[in-house]
Amino acid sequence: MNKKGILIIISGFSGAGKGSVVKELLSKNDYTLSISATTRQPRDYEQHGREYFFESREDFEKMIENNELIEWASYCDNYYGTPKSFVEGNLQQGKDVILEIETQGALDIKKQFEDALLIFITVPKAQELKARLEGRGTEDSNIITKRLKRAYEETQLMKQYDYIVINDKLDKCAEDISSIIDAEHKKTVRNTHLIEEIKEQFEELLKGEI
Ligand code: 5GP
Repeated sequence: MNKKGILIIISGFSGAGKGSVVKELLSKNDYTLSISATTRQPRDYEQHGREYFFESREDFEKMIENNELIEWASYCDNYYGTPKSFVEGNLQQGKDVILEIETQGALDIKKQFEDALLIFITVPKAQELKARLEGRGTEDSNIITKRLKRAYEETQLMKQYDYIVINDKLDKCAEDISSIIDAEHKKTVRNTHLIEEIKEQFEELLKGEI
């Protein structure tokens, strides 16, 4: 029987290194990354269809209307959303699908998919977040303040996640997350078919005795 994949939601403060952690996870494991749609401007190194599908506000609003997104949220004046068919198709095929999304969208997903796995990545200290955002050099100081305020708001939602992982060292953080995913696969509720199979094997072995 083809086991359904796990829907893995990874959120974290902007600047906590989610992007690098997700890249590391994908390079070492057979996970599938969902590519979101956004109305934000591409950064220099970003490509349409690789980091994001970069859309106009008008096209994004059409996607909402046509029910093409599992969830969407407005974050720092831009829309971000998760395309539905890609995610559902991969889960059906047994793939573990990672969504790297902000908190509002994550909690929305939790309402729709009760067996989704929600993981929050944090920095060890708030001061470090500011330093990392400044060091990245891709956003001006207004945007950095906006993102820090948003991070503060997100601290209130962290407790609704299943796991909190500190990104102090990239490798360790990615390993922690893949261990969580491995453990999640072994949960009893995700293995009812296995219990049934083993039970039937015993029944076969003990034919006539039980
Ligand atoms: P950035 O502009 O730095 O790439 O992303 C800003 C925030 O939007 C990040 O927290 C990122 O995780 C989140 N984000 C990216 N894609 C999606 C999405 O499809 N839905 C939601 N809700 N958030 C997203």
